[in-house]
Amino acid sequence: LVSRKRKQDDTIVTVKGEAIGDGQQRIIAGPCSVESREQVDQVAQTLKKQGIKLMRGGAFKPRTSPYDFQGLGIEGLEILKEAADKHDLAVISEIVTPHDIEKAVDYLDVIQIGARNMQNFELLKAAGKVDKPILLKRGLSATLAEFINAAEYIHSQGNGNIILCERGIRTYETATRNTLDISAVPILKQETHLPVLVDVTHSTGRRDLLLPAAKAALAIGADGVMTEVHPDPAVALSDSAQQMDFPQFDEFLNKLEESGLYK
Ligand code: PEP
Ligand code: MN
Repeated sequence: LVSRKRKQDDTIVTVKGEAIGDGQQRIIAGPCSVESREQVDQVAQTLKKQGIKLMRGGAFKPRTSPYDFQGLGIEGLEILKEAADKHDLAVISEIVTPHDIEKAVDYLDVIQIGARNMQNFELLKAAGKVDKPILLKRGLSATLAEFINAAEYIHSQGNGNIILCERGIRTYETATRNTLDISAVPILKQETHLPVLVDVTHSTGRRDLLLPAAKAALAIGADGVMTEVHPDPAVALSDSAQQMDFPQFDEFLNKLEESGLYK
């Protein structure tokens, strides 16, 4: 169902009036984790000022260590919804259990399935049964064929509003947190009709690589970029090393525009 052989024209996923996959590049930005009402409100104001409509923020955080901040859960979704309503933004957040997918529909505009759950088939099936766009991230060690099959799981249950997101894969290289598989973008665009985004934050894990990675993503045909922004990354409860503060985010957007690849 997700194959380009099955449907030649591009799927455009529309989120609160914002099209993803229509040929115009989009930015999804926001904190790694939802930490407080004030934090999310500050990010929302910044996005609004920059004309960005899509805000991300993690409420259920799949952390490597059980002792790290696990997220605010449903309260985090409430905080996101409040900011979305106030600033007329669309919000996207990761859901990690089938049970919460049904609840999340009331709060979110896009439901994210994270890298660690790309092959959680019950979660994929649950995502396929709701009437909400799904942003599906590539698994840490997933081949593109496995990634496409995961999207097929969602579509097979009836939901074809799927956005694919390349977020880096695990390789022997340690200079970056993951290895951004940039060629995944044109391959996914050729093999499927779905929009494809690149998460520059989790793929590189390095603030100094966010801009070049975003340029590469847009140059190679991605429909947009996801990145993390936090009012004060130094005190962030997760991914402190690679989130941008607001001046850095402004500069990131300016440089991306100057490159002619964005807007
Ligand atoms: C995220 O986007 O918040 C996240 C945890 O990313 P990933 O699933 O790609 O690691
Ligand atoms: Mn993060």
